[in-house]
Amino acid sequence: MAYDQNNIFAKILRGEIPCKEVYSDEYVLAFHDIAPQAPVHILVIPRGQYISIDEFGREGSAEEIKGFYTAIDKIVAQEGLKENGFRCIANTGDHGGQEVPHFHMHILGGCKIGRMVETDAV
Ligand code: 5GP
Repeated sequence: MAYDQNNIFAKILRGEIPCKEVYSDEYVLAFHDIAPQAPVHILVIPRGQYISIDEFGREGSAEEIKGFYTAIDKIVAQEGLKENGFRCIANTGDHGGQEVPHFHMHILGGCKIGRMVETDAV
């Protein structure tokens, strides 16, 4: 699948759509989710054009991958999530429930996040 240049996060990266920015550097942009599922719900996206977490791991440079996870470390510190913890989720593809085809990590915190998954298939 080719990267869709007009997905909503590509537009946010280009500044065509506003976001409530949390953190920005040369590797990532992080912003509040428009429909938060927890008291803290942040999306972290790489600046590079990667559709999914697996593509990012396969095609991303070591510098981009290090930059991405270093940014997560900085964001959770900045947002005061280190003491009580948080959950990271990278929905991927149809079964994973991914809606936006630009790799993003959800960071959820500020309360106990609850069940890890909801499926009746097991
Ligand atoms: P996914 O289901 O792809 O893992 O997550 C996509 C997330 O993007 C959803 O949680 C949704 O609320 C969020 N989202 C969709 N459109 C926008 C937008 O225009 N701005 C922001 N900040 N978040 C968005």
